[in-house]
Amino acid sequence: MSTSFESLSLAPELLAVLGELGYDQPTPVQVESIPALLAGRDLIGQSKTGSGKTAAFALPMLQSLDVSRRELQGMILCPTRELCAQVAREVRKLGRRHAGLSVLEVAGGQPIGPQLEALDRGVHIAVGTPGRLIDHLDRGTIPVDAVRIVVLDEADRMLDMGFGADVETILALLPAARQMVMFSATIPKSIAKLSGEYQRDAVRVTIEDALDDTADIRQLRLVTEPDEKFHGLAWLLSRYPHESALVFCNFKATVVDLATSLAREGISVGRFDGDLDQFSRDQVLVRFRNGSLRVLVATDVAGRGLDVEDLDLVINYEMPQQPAVYVHRIGRTGRAGSKGVAVSMMTPGQQGRRKAIEELTGVSIEELDWKPVDDPDLPRLLGAIARPPVMETVLISSGRKNKVRPGDILGALTGEAGGLEGAQIGKIEIHDRLSYVAVSRDVVQHAVTQLNRGHIKRKRVKATLVGGV
Ligand code: AMP
Repeated sequence: MSTSFESLSLAPELLAVLGELGYDQPTPVQVESIPALLAGRDLIGQSKTGSGKTAAFALPMLQSLDVSRRELQGMILCPTRELCAQVAREVRKLGRRHAGLSVLEVAGGQPIGPQLEALDRGVHIAVGTPGRLIDHLDRGTIPVDAVRIVVLDEADRMLDMGFGADVETILALLPAARQMVMFSATIPKSIAKLSGEYQRDAVRVTIEDALDDTADIRQLRLVTEPDEKFHGLAWLLSRYPHESALVFCNFKATVVDLATSLAREGISVGRFDGDLDQFSRDQVLVRFRNGSLRVLVATDVAGRGLDVEDLDLVINYEMPQQPAVYVHRIGRTGRAGSKGVAVSMMTPGQQGRRKAIEELTGVSIEELDWKPVDDPDLPRLLGAIARPPVMETVLISSGRKNKVRPGDILGALTGEAGGLEGAQIGKIEIHDRLSYVAVSRDVVQHAVTQLNRGHIKRKRVKATLVGGV
């Protein structure tokens, strides 16, 4: 069954452009989103890059635009400058028959002068990063009274990057009658909450369901006797190169044992289980998400609060009892178009559990051929995986409540103030009263010193290196 663009009630000039661009048929996310958005509904869409989601919101936005009024009518928020550029390009392309259309990129890290000039002349659509948009709102250089539609693109990434408070500030300033669209690769609790607070009766568009998601995952199994398990794990970790690997266990005691044994061998590992206090949990997750820990050993109980995605490798060190738990565990890998690997370790006696899973997912779990006797011995394998992480995490004693934004931390570390290159700084997370920044391991001491010497928001802060299992 196929739907045409003509049947989606798009205006003739947009249909003409689609024809010129060779977009013959709407993609699934477009089929579901365009009619709802043309009808003025709010929308929350779970969809990956490459699904055609930009056109899904840009076409209705262009259709509702009154080009004769030189006012800002559409606002698109993106996490990065690169995405702003990409989205603005697509909007301009689709709007090329809207004579006089003005689309402005309002991204950070670019001179503000030309942005001010363009805003002064009047623009119809702004595509920006939250931080820079706030700068303009603070200066009063971006009028928002006429905004009719706001889009949060890659909303989960914006929150991950610490832009949550900025996004909320912007939303609160927009006219109450605006339409709001969110696209996000994943819908964690934080995104659902944002939707609940700022959207009205939003249409939900999900293109893949949970089981379809496993299509991007290579599912493997390693059958071993219980006493060969640790050796098998070391082999898996060395055989499947990973930036971040999540190892699931069924019991807290296994988590503690395994994390301790791996750490003793010099492997970059953290543990995540119900016995840790909230502060330690937060810290270990921050470090795992930003590349300061290569391996995280976790239980399912803790796993519910385990807000991580996009892993290269998930290992079931112990097979879960229920098939649904298996699907949930392995669904953390292979997101956003990259292929992930999920390996389940099981004993010869656990094949019944495996069959129940295969029945649920309709996919068979391929068996790996491994015999401990023909393989490098355990010490050699452990030596091979005992690489230090690329990043280290620095804790800063100031956060959202102190009005700290990612740009402030970046500013204190780079340029004349800090002396580091942008490429040496990784993910920045702003919490209520604390912030975390990932810094390349080779310059992390310098970063700590600079932060302790310098200022953030004109105040002194205390910076410390976060470490330990
Ligand atoms: P996006 O997911 O928005 O990043 O879009 C991915 C790519 O698909 C972009 O290069 C679009 O130009 C292109 N595209 C979007 N919709 C269609 C369509 N219906 N047919 C063909 N190409 C499309």
